[in-house]
Amino acid sequence: MHPFPNHLTGLLYALAPWLLACCLMACHGPESTPDPESAQDQDVDDDKTAAKEVTRTDLEWKEVLSPLQYEVTRKAGTERAFTGIYWDTKTAGTYQCVCCKAPLFRSNSKFESGCGWPSFFEPLEGSRLVELKDETLGMRRIEVRCRECDAHLGHVFPDGPEPTGLRYCINSASLSLVEDAPSD
Ligand SMILES: [Zn+2]
Repeated sequence: MHPFPNHLTGLLYALAPWLLACCLMACHGPESTPDPESAQDQDVDDDKTAAKEVTRTDLEWKEVLSPLQYEVTRKAGTERAFTGIYWDTKTAGTYQCVCCKAPLFRSNSKFESGCGWPSFFEPLEGSRLVELKDETLGMRRIEVRCRECDAHLGHVFPDGPEPTGLRYCINSASLSLVEDAPSD
């Protein structure tokens, strides 16, 4: 027994692309118009708010974050080098997004870059990062954001160690370290 009469199944197939397009458009808020400049760049995500899962107002973020965390994550600020709480931390654990607790990096991908910010050669497998072209301050950089809540995390540079050759240069103020439970 077929669950649908044949003519209904046919109709469903005919409408499927149209329904999908409607869904996609409905998911697009008014502020998520892609930046036309970044549309040519193949390597980075065009849509700053793509699939953003955690949304709070500016005022709500201000209430739950410290002033430095707010400035860095919500206003794309940068903490001063060698001042953040994790720049030389070697403790085993998982670094989460300070805003939404999404797991982003593991301590075993952290390395001593000497730059004064926590540096990782790769994100946690399955972590939801967004990489965006950033041409502020007269530099061409790739900004890294949390896809879940759109928090600014830092930048990724192509001067990291093997195996990736990448350096994710991340503000301590964007991170929250959850230490591994001690093994007995
Ligand atoms: Zn987040």
